[in-house]
Amino acid sequence: MKDLKHLYYFENLLTEANNELVRKAQAEGRLALGYTCYHMPEVLLNLDGCFSVRLRAPRTGSMDIATYYMSNATCEYARALLERGLEGGYKFLDAMAGVDVCECMNRSMENMELLDVADKEKKGFFWCNLDSPCHDNEDAVDHVTEQVTRKVLKPLQENYGIDVSDAAVRRAVERHNEVCRLIGEIGEYRKLDNPTITGYEFHVLTLATYACPKDLILDKLRETAEELKTREPDKKKRFRAKVVVVGSEIDDPELISLIEDSGALVVADRFCYGSIPGRQEILLNDEEDAVKQVVRDYLRTTLCVRHVEPHKIQKRLDTAAQLCRDYHADGVIYEQIKFCTYWSYERALASHIMQDEYHIPTLSVDRPYMSRTSGQLRTRVQAFVESLEIKRIKAKRAAREEGR
Ligand code: SF4
Ligand code: SF4
Repeated sequence: MKDLKHLYYFENLLTEANNELVRKAQAEGRLALGYTCYHMPEVLLNLDGCFSVRLRAPRTGSMDIATYYMSNATCEYARALLERGLEGGYKFLDAMAGVDVCECMNRSMENMELLDVADKEKKGFFWCNLDSPCHDNEDAVDHVTEQVTRKVLKPLQENYGIDVSDAAVRRAVERHNEVCRLIGEIGEYRKLDNPTITGYEFHVLTLATYACPKDLILDKLRETAEELKTREPDKKKRFRAKVVVVGSEIDDPELISLIEDSGALVVADRFCYGSIPGRQEILLNDEEDAVKQVVRDYLRTTLCVRHVEPHKIQKRLDTAAQLCRDYHADGVIYEQIKFCTYWSYERALASHIMQDEYHIPTLSVDRPYMSRTSGQLRTRVQAFVESLEIKRIKAKRAAREEGR
């Protein structure tokens, strides 16, 4: 396929957290608000005068200092963030909206705060760590609404004069929804028999919407959506199988590239920093408080593995199976960043259940934060692709024999 016109531009934006668009928005007087997890409702960090930056640590190498503070038995994502913070990579932030979701992230945030990684010149800077329940009932909605109001919206208003009114939240939701519609439209091309967008390209675009001020990439996203309407697929399919990737956070598109180079086209992204969930419109009614509705939406739509109520576990499994059907995938790859306890349980169980009860071929892998050079991962994916091909050949042969 011909290269997407703006792909290189988007790739460049992902090479550092404090990218050129973040700098541009701050030069215009807007606030950059860091966050790390779906449980911090992103849309509330995108009120007039602010924008969210979901934190990443691109091109991470050694994590020696973070390992000293956090030990090597902690998730590498959380450690990479601390290391980058200690290097001064997050001094551009005007606030940090953390969430109390797991031991690793708590320790990362706590160390960042204790070791003063923020810019001391930013007098309005504030840290917060939201308490996030593992339920999605109305008590949880009330609890999180109180948390975000007190720990995020109040300091934004008091320290920086940000308008946190109901009308302002509704405006932020409208802007958010526009990005979601575009990403949704672009993502639909992954359902084609021979998709006109690769999983890598889609992940680059999606990641840019997490890592940049959204309004500053809208024009190029719109152009990309237009370009895809007439993009011709490769005459000969370049992939040998299609897969859905499910799992813990992936903020490095090179991991998707590694999977695709091994023969498996990634047609659906059901992982943290992906689009499912995360890039679906939030629908508000006119009657109820907008913040509360936003909180409820995030709690209901999350597919996070911290939520262990039976209906949530079932929903995650059903969603993975449904994605395989909707995107015509041959199998699922369950991936887990090393030392993520939540995903280690989910991966171990789900990989068996998907095979035994849903009869969907499943590969289960753990991986480092930076996986681009992982030979072991490449070999595992290649072997999985081969097994999917053999399964397909056998199914064809069986169908032929039945027809005789
Ligand atoms: S798995 Fe859950 S807690 Fe962990 S980063 Fe994703 S949404 Fe947040
Ligand atoms: S990947 Fe797992 S251990 Fe790491 S921050 Fe997310 S939930 Fe925590």
